[in-house]
Amino acid sequence: MTSNHDTTNIEELLMNLVPIQSASYKTELMQEAIDNWLYEHDLGYTKDKYGNIYVTKGHADLYPTMVCHIDTVHDINKHVTAHKTSSDIIYAIDQSTGQQYGTGGDDKVGIAITMTMLQQYDNFKAVFFLDEEVGCVGSSKCDSSFFDDSTIVLECDRRGSSDFVNKISSTKLYSKKFSKLIKPILKKWGRSECTGGITDVGEIARVNKVMVANMSCGYHNPHSNSETIDIAQVINTYNLCVELFNLTINKRYEYQSLSDRQESYGYTGRMYGGHFHNHTPRINPYYFDDKDEQTEQEEPHFLDDELYNDYEDIVSLPDNCPMCNEQELEYDEMTGEVWCYSCGAYLQSENLNSFNDEQNQSNKNNNQQGTITFK
Ligand SMILES: [Zn+2]
Ligand SMILES: [Zn+2]
Repeated sequence: MTSNHDTTNIEELLMNLVPIQSASYKTELMQEAIDNWLYEHDLGYTKDKYGNIYVTKGHADLYPTMVCHIDTVHDINKHVTAHKTSSDIIYAIDQSTGQQYGTGGDDKVGIAITMTMLQQYDNFKAVFFLDEEVGCVGSSKCDSSFFDDSTIVLECDRRGSSDFVNKISSTKLYSKKFSKLIKPILKKWGRSECTGGITDVGEIARVNKVMVANMSCGYHNPHSNSETIDIAQVINTYNLCVELFNLTINKRYEYQSLSDRQESYGYTGRMYGGHFHNHTPRINPYYFDDKDEQTEQEEPHFLDDELYNDYEDIVSLPDNCPMCNEQELEYDEMTGEVWCYSCGAYLQSENLNSFNDEQNQSNKNNNQQGTITFK
């Protein structure tokens, strides 16, 4: 039951995790912090060749399982401190400039929730993956058999507080029947099912039949210096996961075969929404590097070509929707278009181009804002 779980630790965990600096391919400090935390909590772990950290707590036939990623998109910055507003929003400050800096809530929230699960359950499995932000590099090399005795696998690695991801590209994360089963819980916690961007559970779904899901978990404005964490939303997400794990505790939920979870017609964004079409290798559509803001010609972060057969467009999203001005822009992988979660508008390239012009103009003026480019 949810009420048996003690979530008072989550806030402290988050405040402790935010200053720990961890960029893709430079995750040593976070690895060390997790190693120490596991040692302090008497939890053994193993690592695969890549360095992903696997934890099994207890002895059971089946285990609820949670995964998260330990890299962030933010450059290592030794001057970062964690702060909290009176309404329990965590933000970070770069003390060398006095400016706001990314908290790395993407995916330190996932780390905090995973750690709390490991404390609260007697039998539990978890993986801390490396280098998700550069294309699920860690999880694409995972030991797939680790998940053979998982009931289900959950990940908390999405912005906002309302989404529950049931599909990534053409890979179904869980079945219609499973969707029906969990519907009352999703409704209770205000979640809507949707298609989501690539993350580690999508990689697990490629190699293991187990049902998986990803969800919003209370971080906002990821991949930017204004990234924040809403503590109440993190705790809500924790409780949602507990209810899902408890509902599924005695049974393994899996597809009959790996091919069953692939959408048979397997179309990608390439076939739709030609506005943003190009032929560059797939990248995380949210990825953009703050230090490249002024140099829009700089090459984006390409992924290992061989990891993916399909390609995707490069889209750097503006912070605000040009139509309603809310910060809720999403990249729809199915159509290859950008849409606003808040006002529902699918943004045409013209809207974004005018945004681009404005941005370029304001760049000239104040040299601060990011740019948006379509190549
Ligand atoms: Zn991210
Ligand atoms: Zn993430």
